[in-house]
Amino acid sequence: MSEKNYDAIVVGAGPAGASVARRAQELGAEVLIIEKKRDIGYPIQCGELVPTVEEFPKILPKAKRAKELFNLPSWVISNDCSRVAVIGPSKEIYEFKFSSHILDRSRFDKWLVMNASRAGAELWTCCNAMSAEKGGREVLVKKDGKVVRLKTSILVAADGPSSKMAKDVGLGSNNPSDLAATIGYLMGGVGVDPDLTEVYFGKEYAPGGYAWIIPKGDGMANVGLGIRASFSERGVSLRDYLGRFINKHPIASKKLQKGVILSMTGGLVPVGGPIKRTHGENAIVVGDAAGQVMATNGGGIPPAVICGDIGGEAIARKLRGEGDLSFYEEVWKDEVGKELDSGVKLRKMIDIVLRSDRLTEGIFGVLDGKIVEDVLRCRLSMPFNLLYKTIEGLRKSLNVLK
Ligand SMILES: Cc1cc2nc3c(=O)[nH]c(=O)nc-3n(C[C@H](O)[C@H](O)[C@H](O)COP(=O)(O)OP(=O)(O)OC[C@H]3O[C@@H](n4cnc5c(N)ncnc54)[C@H](O)[C@@H]3O)c2cc1C
Repeated sequence: MSEKNYDAIVVGAGPAGASVARRAQELGAEVLIIEKKRDIGYPIQCGELVPTVEEFPKILPKAKRAKELFNLPSWVISNDCSRVAVIGPSKEIYEFKFSSHILDRSRFDKWLVMNASRAGAELWTCCNAMSAEKGGREVLVKKDGKVVRLKTSILVAADGPSSKMAKDVGLGSNNPSDLAATIGYLMGGVGVDPDLTEVYFGKEYAPGGYAWIIPKGDGMANVGLGIRASFSERGVSLRDYLGRFINKHPIASKKLQKGVILSMTGGLVPVGGPIKRTHGENAIVVGDAAGQVMATNGGGIPPAVICGDIGGEAIARKLRGEGDLSFYEEVWKDEVGKELDSGVKLRKMIDIVLRSDRLTEGIFGVLDGKIVEDVLRCRLSMPFNLLYKTIEGLRKSLNVLK
């Protein structure tokens, strides 16, 4: 077992960790990535949709680096989609253009880690980081049944939505009540349009969230939903909701009912916005661990990769004596902070709407399909307070309780 003292130890080889490791190593740091899984990127816990580079300027306009970071090789992409349809509770449909890649997420994660490794980063799989100590200067890891203490100048907590490393270094973590629970199936033999991603709202199928059909091509699709516990019926599980959606939804069931479930996935998505502080003296928190997710659509891959890249730069600068890790927080806030914050604000307003199907329909009706597009892009083409006033006015006139 290596007794080396690393410049940076990255816990988690997801999109965030792999991106930090690659960038830091490219800029001269000696990096070790620790991943508890045996197989990078697997099991897949994802809908696998990412915007294309043409779409990025409309979603994260200040993150210019996205163009290079998401210049993906074809072998990590399963399908391309150019449209999104949003289906409201009373089955009204709003369609808009949105150019996306549907990834093979397992290959995508492997590609990111391979890039880090090509730059020279070391990777230990099947290795569990048990705790971080001394503000991130030491990490206890379990490898091959033995517990080893490793030393590092900087610890990167990229260990996902329930990050232990972030807590250990005193930077806090996502509030459990802000974690959306999700379930997804990879289905085969479904009758879906391969160019169209479908998003469904309605309390009966996805309370406090939405259901999705994301086409993978060749009659396959990721079918899933995300809900929040405080919105759901007692005694109805995620699996029950998904079963209901596949078999009973008047539009979706026609496309899915005859399909076969090939695999099942799920996981938590932080939708409460970034944690208060994402850096310490010797540690940074990145990706889901830091709550860097677009709260209205659950998209966490773009922020994870972008913030990871910035984190790698911050590490190299600190090691060269060019400042502290606050650079990381300043730059990610500048590049994606506004959209992540807008996402949370919008999500909180939409929460009021999602309490009632009548109110959801009413808002779709009053504000037309544009509002749906705005919500899913985490941006708003009208002032926030005007949206709030409209929702409140409609809520009162429809007599819907908060
Ligand atoms: C069902 C579902 C669907 C989703 N769909 C989409 C989508 O379509 N598009 C999108 O952009 N986002 C989607 N997301 C969100 C997206 O998957 C995440 O935002 C993204 O994976 C975040 O990357 P990350 O590197 O921060 O975390 P992760 O990908 O979770 O990586 C964290 C890694 O840390 C490892 N780890 C954890 N603890 C330890 C430890 N103690 N020691 C060693 N290793 C450890 C884990 O094994 C894991 O590999 C979805 C999420 C879910 C759950």
